[in-house]
Amino acid sequence: MRYISTRGTAPTLEFDDVLLSGLARDGGLYIPESWPTFSQEDLVRMSGMSYCDLAVEIIAPFMTGSAALNKLPQLIEAAYAGFGHPAVTPLRQLEGNLWLLELFHGPTLAFKDVALQLLGQLFEVVLEARDQRVTIVGATSGDTGSAAIEAVMGKARATLYMLHPKGRVSEVQRRQMTTVDAANIHNLAVAGTFDDCQDLVKAMFNDQAFRDRHNLAAVNSINWARVMAQIVYYFWAGLALGAPHRPVAFAVPTGNFGNVYAGYAARQMGLPIERLVVGSNHNDILTRFLDSGTMAMEGVSPSYSPSMDIQVSSNFERLLFDLLGRDGAAVTATMRQFREEGRFTLDPASLAQATALFQGVRFDDEETLAEIARRHTRDGELTDPHSAIAIAAARSTAKGSVCPLVALATAHPAKFPDAVEKATGLRPALPTRLADLLDRPEYALDVPADLAHLEGLIDDGDKVAQQGAPTI
Ligand SMILES: *Cc1c(COP(=O)(O)O)cnc(C)c1O
Repeated sequence: MRYISTRGTAPTLEFDDVLLSGLARDGGLYIPESWPTFSQEDLVRMSGMSYCDLAVEIIAPFMTGSAALNKLPQLIEAAYAGFGHPAVTPLRQLEGNLWLLELFHGPTLAFKDVALQLLGQLFEVVLEARDQRVTIVGATSGDTGSAAIEAVMGKARATLYMLHPKGRVSEVQRRQMTTVDAANIHNLAVAGTFDDCQDLVKAMFNDQAFRDRHNLAAVNSINWARVMAQIVYYFWAGLALGAPHRPVAFAVPTGNFGNVYAGYAARQMGLPIERLVVGSNHNDILTRFLDSGTMAMEGVSPSYSPSMDIQVSSNFERLLFDLLGRDGAAVTATMRQFREEGRFTLDPASLAQATALFQGVRFDDEETLAEIARRHTRDGELTDPHSAIAIAAARSTAKGSVCPLVALATAHPAKFPDAVEKATGLRPALPTRLADLLDRPEYALDVPADLAHLEGLIDDGDKVAQQGAPTI
């Protein structure tokens, strides 16, 4: 499988290069040159499969030519062996036609594990085949950091530096990162904001000499392999609910548009998806766009669903590429306008194409808490605020629909205990495998928001390993 950039001028790459490179050199995002498709008969054959067997079927066509392809079944088994549920992503009935797909049974209790656990396995095999090492740098405001750390810890060929804004991530999220004691993992607590962290990471990638010296890699949500791994659970839920014989719809709590874009990909590949409902909190750039056709940046303010507090949905560019007729020059011009003016407006025909499939709904903090409380009253279950937005989005759009509607539960309630407690009076307990999280020692290094300082630190990587003593 060959991959092209959404901006049309970067070199076409094979899977392994896309895996390791992240962003395309022309600033675009990589997508497959064409979609692998599954026929009705294929879907019928796949409908009884285990999650891991299904994952092999879905993922293998994207990885033709990869050094990891012949090990794919074992890598997938290894990626999901640590999940806390035998079904990997269990599907539960909420009421009538409404279902909940629980994506939070991985090691860090958020859906990002589904993709990053596999990414960690793929990185190791591809790097081994090439006899290379990488240094992964990332910035996190919460879930991505811990999921990346769990995916890379102990891997022989990757060193990870994860920057988080000191004092600005929740205690559970911080501890999920800082309690990992592995020589190749370095938590850097930056004196600054999440934007400072992100700017520092960008600056490191833009420093070509530094980038080459360390073979820098990224595992952020624009990495194609993350989207690829997420396509699987759309098929998993769709097949369980009657595909290919009846269509299915999904409601997805959205930040960077990565998760719901994987649903779009599943539809392109032959899964009968009737519609994709995009749920947002009050940081609602996407739902405003679907209403108006104008994508306009606004300030971001904190919500109870912090993993969706984003200003720009970076994966949207992949959909935009299709909406603009797969014209890289048009995407480049649109994204340039967006960067310069903070907004762009889609032509009516392209917008109609988007709204034929995507529907946007937003819920503020109060409505989010009300949804958490509602479910608790109905069936005694606790729901995290991101998943609550998915359920609210599903319910608000379910009227008159005959096909099953699946809300994606993206985090375990114990990951966001304050909001859950506020809504229900109950503080959700961590699963037993994480029960001692609050007692484990923490490893992090306090650093200033200073590029030269950080680059010096990474240049002298061993020093960090030695200083990685508890500092918080
Ligand atoms: C990252 C995240 C999201 C948003 O996912 P995107 O792919 O960025 O849209 C939603 N919920 C939780 C819990 C997350 O960690």
